[in-house]
Amino acid sequence: MLIHRDIPGLRAALGAWGARGARIALVPTMGALHEGHLALVAAARTAADVVVASIFVNPTQFAPNEDLSRYPRDEAGDLAKLRAAGCDVAWMPTVEAMYPPGGATFVEVSSVSEGFEGAVRPGHFRGVATVCTKLFLQTGADVAAFGEKDWQQLQVVRRAARDLDIPIRILAVPTVREADGLALSSRNRFLASDQRVRAPLLHAALSRAAAAIAGGHDAAATLTQEGAALRRDGFATDYLALVDAETMCPMERAVSGRALRIVAAAQLGSVRLLDNVAVG
Ligand code: AMP
Repeated sequence: MLIHRDIPGLRAALGAWGARGARIALVPTMGALHEGHLALVAAARTAADVVVASIFVNPTQFAPNEDLSRYPRDEAGDLAKLRAAGCDVAWMPTVEAMYPPGGATFVEVSSVSEGFEGAVRPGHFRGVATVCTKLFLQTGADVAAFGEKDWQQLQVVRRAARDLDIPIRILAVPTVREADGLALSSRNRFLASDQRVRAPLLHAALSRAAAAIAGGHDAAATLTQEGAALRRDGFATDYLALVDAETMCPMERAVSGRALRIVAAAQLGSVRLLDNVAVG
């Protein structure tokens, strides 16, 4: 596996593959890799000839009040996992390579990025859309794999690629979960043992709500009831909502022919858990 830390080196390596007609797949990550990330690498593997995984803890998607320095980092462990997963290139830019001094251009996606995570974390999706656009252009990838775990992010990135005419296919990979339903996340390591026991209740609540709404139950009443159950179990919910799966517009009821999603974010102690499920 090649490791690159600057843009000219990365471009030279990928350019040589591209010139031979190889298709390139990108897996953007912030490191602290787990089986969810490795599922993206496996999906990328089936979609292209060369797999590039980026590891970059992107400062522009963290607000000043969010602790960037607390984000888990494990470069040696990550590289070993990527090697074992059959990744061809690890793209590990420094902050200076990604954001040279004087940078003044950002990618801002309206509508789809405004609610939910965008409302709770102002500026977050501007950082995500900017870094993903840069990664797409740096690698010239044909395909990029993203996890359904971060559903709104997936829609934001799709919208940005489409609107900016970037010739890349966005591949959505289903959420990888623990046996008890908890979605794998780099932040799960911060759950205290009693919180870890309760954490799967979020996915259980989403699954119950999705089944009830798909079965014709009133969406608002269902979400109110599940939200109250989560609060009783110690979750502080930022949101728990039924949305159009592509536009992220809030929906009041299931509509046939329209893909819907239930999205949620909830704080358990100091750990913020994100999850979502399909309805129907
Ligand atoms: P992160 O390193 O947390 O920024 O995530 C990098 C990519 O991995 C994103 O596309 C995430 O959606 C995806 N991802 C994170 N957790 C999971 C999971 N449990 N299952 C599938 N994909 C995931």
